[in-house]
Amino acid sequence: MNFFTTILGSGAALPTGNRRCAAQVLNINGFKLLLDCAEGTQDRIRYNHLRLQSINTVIISHLHGDHFFGLPGLLSTMHLCGRTEPMTVVAPRGAREVIETTFALTGNHIEYPIEWVEMDFAEGEQRVFENSRCIVDAFPIVHTVPTYGFRITEVPRGVNPARVYAYCCDTAYTESLLPHISGVHLLCLESTFANDLAELAETRQHLTAGQAGRLARLADAGQLLLTHISARYREPELLLQQAMEEFPNTILAADGMRIEIKR
Ligand SMILES: [Zn+2]
Ligand SMILES: [Zn+2]
Repeated sequence: MNFFTTILGSGAALPTGNRRCAAQVLNINGFKLLLDCAEGTQDRIRYNHLRLQSINTVIISHLHGDHFFGLPGLLSTMHLCGRTEPMTVVAPRGAREVIETTFALTGNHIEYPIEWVEMDFAEGEQRVFENSRCIVDAFPIVHTVPTYGFRITEVPRGVNPARVYAYCCDTAYTESLLPHISGVHLLCLESTFANDLAELAETRQHLTAGQAGRLARLADAGQLLLTHISARYREPELLLQQAMEEFPNTILAADGMRIEIKR
């Protein structure tokens, strides 16, 4: 059974030629789920040869532009291309108002149905999506605006135990994440800064590479995937090295990379 993610954007807030802002498409036995939707995501979907209309669910971690500003364009293009299938959008409260206001004020409209799941919970974990292929549980994480992490569990077809993927982007260092990401097979964490910028990371509520590695080690994850790399790093292998000092089984995301979730 297929379970892999395709990285559309591995950069932080400032897009560069090599690293666009946050978006990735999870493929769970053919079911495609878009995680975050930065500006330009619809272009990156096409560039990576993924069919636009095959995406039926979008999950937004928080409303910062580098995770969200691509959504009105994506939804609008799907309408222009003749979409009739419903779309599920899981997002923090406020996203629906932004999208509906944008369409109302700009004279755009979409005719296919959108099923909104707006998240607004102070603590704890909640199930926000479930179908025959996967279960998505969301939990609040620590950032400058309300932000959620996600644990995506495949629905196994057979005797093998379910594989689990976790995505936390963006977040400050907090061990309150651990109960939610414990033992996942692939853990995708933001790694905006190198270790020498720990103070800046704390101020902006992001992780350093070393902190990401430490969280992966404490969570006993199978593998760590670093993403949300600041544009300041021309040689981001430094971040990979710093994370690997804490957690050796780490890979550094790159735009276009496809990573399988392995047992
Ligand atoms: Zn971000
Ligand atoms: Zn953010």
